[in-house]
Amino acid sequence: MKINQSYKIHVHGLVQGVGFRPFIYRLAREHSVSGWVENRNDGVVILAQGRNTHLTDFIHKISTEAPMASEVKNVQAIPVTGHAYNTFSIRKSERTTEAITDVSPDIAVCDRCLEDMKKQPHRLNYPLINCTHCGPRFTIIRDLPYDRHMTTMADFIMCSTCKKEYTDINNRRFHAQPVACNHCGPHYELIARNRHLKQINKILDHTCSLLESGHILAIKGLGGFNLVCDAINPESVNNLRKLKARDGKPFAVMFRDLNTVQEYTRLSEKEEQLLTSWRRPIVLLKTRKELAPDVSVGFDTTGAMLPYMPFHYLLFEKTTLPVLVFTSGNLSEEPIITENKEALQVFGDKARATIFYNRDIHNRTDDSVAFVVNDKERLIRRSRGFAPSPIDLSFNANNILATGAELVNCFCLGKERQAILSQHIGDLKNLETLDFFEESVSRMQKLFRVNPGYIAHDLHPDYLSTRYARSTGLPTIPVQHHHAHIASVMAEYGLQEKVSGIAFDGVGLGTDHTIWGGEFLIAGLNDFERFSSFEPVPMPGSDLATKEPWRMALSYLYHYYKEALFALQIPFVEGLNRENADLILKAIDRNINAPLTSSAGRLFDAVSALLGLCHKSSFHAEAPMRLENIIDTSETGSYSFYTGKEIGFRPLFDEIIQDIRNNTDPGIISARFHRTIINITFATAEKIRADYGIEKVVLSGGTFQNRYLLKNTEKILNLHGFRVYSPVKVPANDGGIALGQLAIAAAKLRSKQFSQKG
Ligand code: ZN
Ligand code: ZN
Ligand code: FE
Repeated sequence: MKINQSYKIHVHGLVQGVGFRPFIYRLAREHSVSGWVENRNDGVVILAQGRNTHLTDFIHKISTEAPMASEVKNVQAIPVTGHAYNTFSIRKSERTTEAITDVSPDIAVCDRCLEDMKKQPHRLNYPLINCTHCGPRFTIIRDLPYDRHMTTMADFIMCSTCKKEYTDINNRRFHAQPVACNHCGPHYELIARNRHLKQINKILDHTCSLLESGHILAIKGLGGFNLVCDAINPESVNNLRKLKARDGKPFAVMFRDLNTVQEYTRLSEKEEQLLTSWRRPIVLLKTRKELAPDVSVGFDTTGAMLPYMPFHYLLFEKTTLPVLVFTSGNLSEEPIITENKEALQVFGDKARATIFYNRDIHNRTDDSVAFVVNDKERLIRRSRGFAPSPIDLSFNANNILATGAELVNCFCLGKERQAILSQHIGDLKNLETLDFFEESVSRMQKLFRVNPGYIAHDLHPDYLSTRYARSTGLPTIPVQHHHAHIASVMAEYGLQEKVSGIAFDGVGLGTDHTIWGGEFLIAGLNDFERFSSFEPVPMPGSDLATKEPWRMALSYLYHYYKEALFALQIPFVEGLNRENADLILKAIDRNINAPLTSSAGRLFDAVSALLGLCHKSSFHAEAPMRLENIIDTSETGSYSFYTGKEIGFRPLFDEIIQDIRNNTDPGIISARFHRTIINITFATAEKIRADYGIEKVVLSGGTFQNRYLLKNTEKILNLHGFRVYSPVKVPANDGGIALGQLAIAAAKLRSKQFSQKG
C-alpha cells in the first residue's frame, strides 16, 4: 500500500500580502507535510508530500482555515512524482508569470496586535503595529511582488528584534512586510501653531485635550487624511461644516466601540457584521440617539464606522468622547489629501493641529461607504478595504481599460477573466481629481501588468473620462451610460443572456442625443433596445437643474399645466419668484439650454422640491435623499400613471397636487410617490416578461441607492417569480459604470462590433 503521495497545488485568489505562505507553512507542519510553498504572480504554488489522509486534510484546510483577509478562489491539486523532501520550506518569491495575483486591500488592525500593543516591550503603544494578518497593503504598495522593498516601508530598516520576528516562521509577523516597532518603524508627529510633539503618549494627550475642548484636527488615516472633531459638540461640528465649505453632505463618525454604536443607532446582525468586518467601511445605520445636528443634517441615518488603525484605538483609550466625526480630509470636491506637507499647508491654519506619521501613502483610498438592504451589503463608495480586490468575470476582458463616468469616477482594468475596479476617484471636473485619475490609471496598469489595447468610455463626448480615452490614440469603444449600469450587474453575476434592465439614475447621454435616466432596457452585453422610458421633460438650465431641484418642479408643472400652473394654489407655486419663473419658462419655450430628459433622478428632484424638502441642493442627490428620508413606511397607497413607450406622469402630478391641497402629510405623499415608481417598475417588468419571456430583471443606477425603492422593488418582483439581480460588489451609482463598460467592450470585441475611431 502506498502511504506517501506528492501533489502540486495551485491556489488562486487573494492570497498575496495576507499571511498566506506562513499559514501554509504552519498547516504543513501540523499535518506532517513536507515540500515547499512559493508565491507566484498568479497565486501560490505548493508542493506537498505526506500520507494520503494527512494530505486530504491539508488540502481541505487550505480553503477552510485561510487567513481572514484572504479569498481562496480555487485550489487545484495535481499528483506529481519527483524529489522527496524531508522538511517544509517557504521559497523566495519570483516573478515567474505575467499573470498577477490579487493585491490585498488594507486590513483593519487585528485583536492580537491590539494585545501586543500593550504587552510587547518594543511595541508599547506603537501606533503603527501590524502583523501578517493585518495592516496597510494597497495604500503602501508600489509594485509587485508584495515585498517590503516594493512598498513605502522600503526606507525603514528593521531593527534586530523586528528582523527576528520577520524571519521566524513560527512568529505572527513572519514576512509581515510593514513590520515595525517603536525603535525602527515610522512614527507619529503632532504639529500645532505652538507645538511640535513626537512622543506618542504626549501626542495622544494633546490630541485628546484638543478634541475635548472642541477643536478640529487633521489626522492621517490609512489612505488619506481625516478631519476629526467631537461629534456631540454642536459648535465643533458646525465649525467643521464651515471649514469644509460648499460640502453639505452628512459627516461620517467613528464610534469608540460596538456598544456605543448600539447606543446611538439601530443595527441588524448583517449591519453589525459589515461594520466589524476587517474591511471596516462606513455603514449607514438608522439613528437611535442624535449626535450634533450638523452631523447628519436632518437625515435619520448615521454614517458609522469603528476604529481600524491602532492609533484610533489609542485615541479612544485616552479620550472620554464616545464618538468623533471622521470626515475626508479635503476641501469641497478635491481628492483627500495624502501627503504630510500638503496637509500641513492646507490644514495648518484651518485645523488646530495636524497629526501624521512618516510612512507615505502611495495609493490614495477614501473610507468606503456601505449599507444593507434585503440582508445584502451594498456599496456607495468602494475604496479602502475593498479596492483593488478584483471581480471575477465569466469572460476574458484582458487588456481593456474602461474609463468610467465623470461625476463619481472609478475606472476598470481587464486582466484576463478578472476586472480590477479602481478605488473611488471622484469628480473629474475638479482639476486635482483629474490628475489623480490619470496618475491612478498609469499606476494600476503598471501594478497589474495591464497594457490596454482597447479603451471603453461613456457615450458622452464631453466627459473628461471620454476625452482621456480619446487622447490615448488607442481604439475606443463608446458605451451608452445606462447600458453600462445594467452590464455592471450582469458582469457581477455572470449573466450573458438578455435581461430586463431597469436603470434609474441622474443623467446619462442616450443614443438619441437626449438625456436619459428612467430607462427600461432589454439588454444583452453586446447591445440593447430601449423598451420604454420616463416621459421626457425639459431640464431648464441643464446642469444647473441638477443643483436646483425647484427648476425641475417648475418644468414638470409647466409641462402638464402650462400657464395654469400659477393658479395651482400650492405653497411651491406661491413661493415662486414670478420674474425668475417666467424667464425659465421662456427659455423652455425657446428651447434655450433646456435639454429633454427622462431622468428618474430629476423626477425625484421635482417631487422633493414640490413638497418643499429641497429647493437647492447642497450636495449631490440631496433632494431624492430628503424625499426618501420622510417616507411614512406604513402607507400603502400610490398614484396613477400612464404606461406605454413613454411612462406618463400627468395623473401622478394631478394626485400629488390634490394631496398637497388636502394637507396630506408629506411622509404619506412621499410613500405614495415611491410606491408609484415601484408599481411602474413591476408593471413594465411584467410587460417585458409577457412580450419577450424574459424573467431576469437587473436593477441599477444611482436611484437604487434609495433603500425603500430597492427593498420594495426587489420584494414585489421576487414575489411574482422574477429573478432579480442588484449590485452588491460594485456601487449602483456611476462608481460601478466602468465595470459595465468593460463587460460591454469585451462582448463587442468578441463579436467584432466596435469602431476603430480614435
Ligand atoms: Zn495584526
Ligand atoms: Zn523594530
Ligand atoms: Fe449613472
